[in-house]
Amino acid sequence: MYQAKAYSVASATAPFTSDTVQRRETTQRDVRIEILFCGVCHSDLHTVRDEWSSIMPTTYPCIPGHEIVGRVTKVGTAVTKFKKDDLVGVGCMVDSDHTCPNCSDGLEQFCPGGTFTYNSPDKHLGGVTYGGYSESIVVDERFVLNIPANLDPAGVAPLLCAGITTYSPIHRWGDLKGKKVGIVGLGGLGHMGVKFARAFGAHVVVFTTSPGKKEDALRLGAHEVIISSNAEEMRAQAGTFNFILDTIAAHHDINAYINMLGRDGNITLVGAPETPLQVSAFALLFGRKSLSGSLIGGIAETQEMLDFCGEHNITSDVEIIPIQKINEAYERLLKSEVKYRFSIDMASLKAE
Ligand code: NAP
Ligand code: ZN
Repeated sequence: MYQAKAYSVASATAPFTSDTVQRRETTQRDVRIEILFCGVCHSDLHTVRDEWSSIMPTTYPCIPGHEIVGRVTKVGTAVTKFKKDDLVGVGCMVDSDHTCPNCSDGLEQFCPGGTFTYNSPDKHLGGVTYGGYSESIVVDERFVLNIPANLDPAGVAPLLCAGITTYSPIHRWGDLKGKKVGIVGLGGLGHMGVKFARAFGAHVVVFTTSPGKKEDALRLGAHEVIISSNAEEMRAQAGTFNFILDTIAAHHDINAYINMLGRDGNITLVGAPETPLQVSAFALLFGRKSLSGSLIGGIAETQEMLDFCGEHNITSDVEIIPIQKINEAYERLLKSEVKYRFSIDMASLKAE
């Protein structure tokens, strides 16, 4: 084992403070990575504040971070995919059982024996796993991704969660050329959703609570922007959408967006508010509409998404912060103020 610098929280109400984390020595299949950038996902905040306690209670201390980009510093003797100095990524998962039907189908995110990057039982060291708000991490090579060389590492980090979480359902929907797609919420996930939906040829409409984000939404690729508090603008769009991706992190009235769907339209939830949403049966019945959910994506699909981003020059719009600003960053995340993802420059941790 060795010690790495990190930032942790001691409880649901404590701020982040400087800490250290025990990492395992590289076993045969492991890759040791010096972390360059780590994105700040709203899931980090939900977990740190134990907002998902009824589903996935948080074990403290907690070190979040699952949008990791770094350089390989060491590889185990059986590692074949990576070598020292490669630029690599790690997302929300670091292991799975490799044998269940979900793993066989390349959907490791649904593996009942899977290991998430943080706050998940650690098969190697006991206790729980610790994430990317740290100077290094050791990961099984099967959960390490190749990063296209032409992309900026700070803007790539958020692709490892926000990217795959939006790419997967948008891509799975089918041929989007000429279809009308709504993206609800222009935050970390939402702004990636706009980029992907546009890249797949859809007519993209953003629904936002923030009038100040209108210009950005258009620059990011939206064709139209609707301020969700404007009843008239909302009414004019009712019944016209083929597909809507709901990325809202907080409690909201999903029926307002189900009403936007046309016949056989689908709304997919990726946002994970802490309290249940109330769905009107009638909103779904009339028009044979469907409501579904989606969770990140498998490892092969994550690599496919990264390669797609390499080909189309797609990265996240990031505000780079030092780790010392992380508490302030969380407060701004809660105010929907981030444009559009914080990416922590881990070089700042060396000064601790
Ligand atoms: P984020 O950057 O905070 O963006 C969420 C956006 O939702 C905000 O920017 C805001 O957009 C909108 N919003 C926030 N509060 C709202 C409210 N009360 N009513 C209406 N709109 C509101 O968060 P994120 O990192 O994109 O994550 C979004 C959600 O997805 C979180 O719940 C996160 O845990 C979840 N998530 C799920 C997966 C998955 O696999 N399914 C993966 C990652 C994250 P506007 O300013 O435009 O209104
Ligand atoms: Zn995430």
